[in-house]
This record gives sequence, C-alpha cells and structure tokens, in this order.
Amino acid sequence: MKTSMIFLFLFLIPCFSFSQSEVPVEEWTGKTILLIGAHPDDDAYSLGTLGMLQANGNEVYIAILTTGNVGTQDPDLSMVDLANIRKKEEQAALAAMGIPVDHYTNFGYDDGLLEYENKKEVVAKLVRLIRQVRPDVLFAFDPGKGAQRWHKADHRSASYLAADAARAAMWPLLFQGQITMEGLEAHIIEEYLLFDSAEDDIDTWVDISAFTEKKITAMSQYVSQWSSGWYKYKGPDLSEEEAKEVRDRVSKRIRYRDGKAVEGFRYYKGLPDNIGR
Ligand SMILES: [Zn+2]
Repeated sequence: MKTSMIFLFLFLIPCFSFSQSEVPVEEWTGKTILLIGAHPDDDAYSLGTLGMLQANGNEVYIAILTTGNVGTQDPDLSMVDLANIRKKEEQAALAAMGIPVDHYTNFGYDDGLLEYENKKEVVAKLVRLIRQVRPDVLFAFDPGKGAQRWHKADHRSASYLAADAARAAMWPLLFQGQITMEGLEAHIIEEYLLFDSAEDDIDTWVDISAFTEKKITAMSQYVSQWSSGWYKYKGPDLSEEEAKEVRDRVSKRIRYRDGKAVEGFRYYKGLPDNIGR
C-alpha cells in the first residue's frame, strides 16, 4: 500500500471497527493470510480453517517464533533432536492440509524463553515479514482479555509480539531502514482472526466439516507433542496400534457445535490499535 493510501485509510477507518466478517470466512477467496505463533504446533488451533482457506484460493503463510526445542518430558531427547523433530512434524502437518511447505518460516528462537528475547529485534523481524508477505488477514494468539490472566509465557508473548508488529508495520517511519534500504513498503493488516481467546470472546465459529479428516491427519503428525511420545518419543514411524492411539487422541480435540466440526475465533477488523479490545 502506498503511503498516500495509508493516510487515506487512516482517515477513513478509525471510526469503524467490525466484530463480524461481512463475508463468512468459509467464503473468503483471493486473500493473503499470515499466522504468527510461538511453537511448531500452534497452527493446530486453526488448521482446519487454514486448510480450507488455502483450498478456496487464498494463500496461507505460517510464521513460528520458536523451534519448540524444550517441549518434551523425554529425557533422551536433546534440544537439537527436538527442534529437528518438530520442524518435520510441522512440515508434515502443513502438507496434510495442502499448505505449501515453502510458506513456512521459523525464526529459530528457543522454546520457553520468548519473553526474554530482545523485543525490538523480534518485532523488527515480524514487521519485515509482514511488509514482505503483505497479508490481508492475521491469525494470532488473541492479545485480549484471555491473555491478561496468567497464560503460557510463549503464547502470551506471541500474542503481544504479533499485535505490536501488526501495528508497527503500518508506520513508514518505524523500522524505516526496511523501506529506505530494502525496498519494502509500510503495510496495514485490515482483518484479524484471533485464536485461543477467552471463551466468551469467541464470536466467529468457522465450519471446518469438510476438512475434519485432514485436520486429524495433520494433528496426528505432532507425535512428539500429543501422544505418549511426549514422555517417550517413538516417531515418526509408529506401529499401527500407536498410530491409531495418536489419531484417537487428537480426534477428541476437535470441537463440535450443532453437529458441525468448528474452530472458534475472535474476529476484528480495523486499525491494529484496537486489536486487544
Ligand atoms: Zn504453543
């Protein structure tokens, strides 16, 4: 978006914000979508929606801040082992949903310590990615009231970092070296689907019925996280019995409303200043 367009947008939009999408998410097409998460399974909150959007003619990009390299109780796994395992699990999950693996970026930070990283550096990297990908919609952990109560530190951090980066990306004088030296342009993300919200903040239930089986297959790739593999990693080649156990376990995580498989979000449209409200 050209700078003049940004200022036009700034004049027009501040009075308006929307808590429902005018076009149902199930009918979105032609949009660029970016998800920012903390760990290489955080897209699981919205894998069905992301797979549906990619299939419906949108382009889905995934950015994960940490390698997930401490998320195990298995004493025999090293941090390097786990980072490699989780990278492969994430790529397999995305492939199962039809999301191109080259749309996946991992920033390489250590799991569990995101809060202690240099915030300006992390935000600058996210702003650069936003200005490169130029998403119409951001998927992120909800930085609203659900994050005000204590919550897993990396998720809490990722919610704020994503919102902070969305806000910074729109100002051409912030991280302006990316504009003057790298040829990027400021960018406003206009729509947000925020996941892991406080239950009473969820206002958008996306029907993922047609993608339930794919979602279960995708989630079943996270063998190191959502199975007995968390205590004793046995993947990725599981016995038939072990594979069934993983599949049964992740199937129980699918939410249903009125008999339909769904994923719940808080939808927001407007300037990023008010994302948290
Ligand atoms: Zn996580």
